[in-house]
Amino acid sequence: MEPNLRLAHLYPKLMNIYGDRGNILCLERRCRERGIGFEVTELGLGEKLKPKEYDLIFIGGAQDREQRRVAEDLVKVKGKALREAVDKGGTLLAVCGGYQLMGRYYRTAEGEELPGVGAFGLWTEHPGPAAKRFIGNVVVEWCGQTLVGFENHGGRTHLDEGVEPLGRVVSGFGNNGEDGGEGAVSRNAYGTYLHGALLPKNPRFADHLIETALRRRHKGLELTPLDDRVEGMAHAAAVRLTTRRGMISR
Ligand code: GLN
Repeated sequence: MEPNLRLAHLYPKLMNIYGDRGNILCLERRCRERGIGFEVTELGLGEKLKPKEYDLIFIGGAQDREQRRVAEDLVKVKGKALREAVDKGGTLLAVCGGYQLMGRYYRTAEGEELPGVGAFGLWTEHPGPAAKRFIGNVVVEWCGQTLVGFENHGGRTHLDEGVEPLGRVVSGFGNNGEDGGEGAVSRNAYGTYLHGALLPKNPRFADHLIETALRRRHKGLELTPLDDRVEGMAHAAAVRLTTRRGMISR
């Protein structure tokens, strides 16, 4: 049977900034070039998530206003299914505002506490409207390689004892600008502050997600390599520019 990747895209209209939708386009292209089918189901407010029907779940970022609109729905309508998916080793990618809402709570700049899904052992607090926003290009060390992206957030994320970050900040701010961690990992679920879109410039991470997602139904599946020369150049240019401009702001 030809594999196909079934992706759930949460709140594509509300949670989508700085090119986050590009992650979906990238996954689709990398699947199709290998003859792997790709199906996207968009799930908005009020629509239930049935975890067994998906191999990969994606949620992008947004500012506080949109996060406020989806927080209650996430907790009440999709929260249990999301926690179940992550606990059972389902693959998930959550970016920035979406990442914050996968933790226990996000306290906004105005001090309002938005409840989180609790799929990751972490919490996020915005220190207030006068606080410095973490804006700029980021380079992260991930599994002996680099991830590149763009961050723009006021919230500071803190991981519980024992929760692993996705990577270590080489240049930029990451989770909180203090402890050098960027993002979080919980089994096969990944949270990150990196927009950009993240995946087109980080093809190895994109393939890691595809492989992890598909291997649950297709044991031992190996992805055929693609010609990533252009992606490699984009990645290298981002590393060069980010580190050369001295954007190490911690
Ligand atoms: N509202 C959040 C913050 O500023 C998330 C921003 C984002 O998703 N880029 O911290």
